[in-house]
Amino acid sequence: MIVDLRSDTVTKPSKQMKEAMLAAPVGDDVFDEDPTINDLQDYASNLFGKEAALYCPSGTMTNQIAIRCLTQPQDEVICDQRSHIYNYEGGGLAYNSMVSVRLADGERGILTPELIEPNILKEDIHYPISKVIGLENTVNKGGGACYREKDIEPIARLAEKNDLKMHLDGARFFNAIVATGEEIKDHAKHFDTISICLSKGLGAPVGSILLGTDEVIKKAKRVRKVLGGGMRQAGIIAAGALFALKNNIERLADDHQRAKTLAKELEQADFVKNILPVDTNIIIFEVRDDLSVENVLNKFEENKVYAVPFGKGAIRFVTHLDFNDEQMERTINVIRLLSF
Ligand SMILES: *Cc1c(COP(=O)(O)O)cnc(C)c1O
Repeated sequence: MIVDLRSDTVTKPSKQMKEAMLAAPVGDDVFDEDPTINDLQDYASNLFGKEAALYCPSGTMTNQIAIRCLTQPQDEVICDQRSHIYNYEGGGLAYNSMVSVRLADGERGILTPELIEPNILKEDIHYPISKVIGLENTVNKGGGACYREKDIEPIARLAEKNDLKMHLDGARFFNAIVATGEEIKDHAKHFDTISICLSKGLGAPVGSILLGTDEVIKKAKRVRKVLGGGMRQAGIIAAGALFALKNNIERLADDHQRAKTLAKELEQADFVKNILPVDTNIIIFEVRDDLSVENVLNKFEENKVYAVPFGKGAIRFVTHLDFNDEQMERTINVIRLLSF
């Protein structure tokens, strides 16, 4: 048995999802003629209470398009130093949007108005122009930490006061919704643009969706085209995404429960120095100072449990749709057995 905890992107489409994909009507989406993609976009915009939605190949693309639509060259984006848009998108904000980034340092990546405000620049010819506040929910590098609506509302007010736009990198937004028990629309109303991933915890094979006003999505479609993201009969993959949105949100609670159980085991393990609190499906732990991450990962791999290194001295586990109770038993046994 192989246990793959490297990421929630490793999930494969289920039989039912594949059946939905096989049955999907398709058309040329560059001509707006793919009925499945049109259904998916309508379903998503209704779910979020936004005017429009755009299906794209990846979450990197939806984030990049959003920032391109909200900014001009010489503008600046304020985000946490752990942000995916800053760390893991190949320098895309400079490359695609010609903007700079100003980094705040939130507790596990969760920003507050107090942390953001000093980063808002006054009008001065020497400075870039502060334009967007980018939040991430849940925060990947923060160990899956999540915002509550009451944390977002004052940030949105600060943004409005300073004429800034709000973007949400919601690659794991539904994990935050399930963990907090809050309403999708109550979070969504605070953002100009929202990017969500269907190919992570929701288990679709491909795709992300950008949400916003009709105006911003019209522009986003032009940007998607120039990035080479205008797909043709992509309804065949969009059907998997639609199936995921309709069927796989509530079950994220199981992933969270399993992550908490694994974290409890890791807390007991003598190779673990410390572990970030587990709110959703991500577990980040540091290994003992006298051990190397590589060494610990190798031992896990010898037992067919796969994870990834995650910054200095740390390892990340992510639970997901294809990680079941049997695999969890196995992982717990390996954690108990490992000795250094
Ligand atoms: C995975 C992820 C993305 C998008 O990644 P893609 O692989 O391009 O789909 C964006 N933001 C966060 C926080 C992520 O974890």
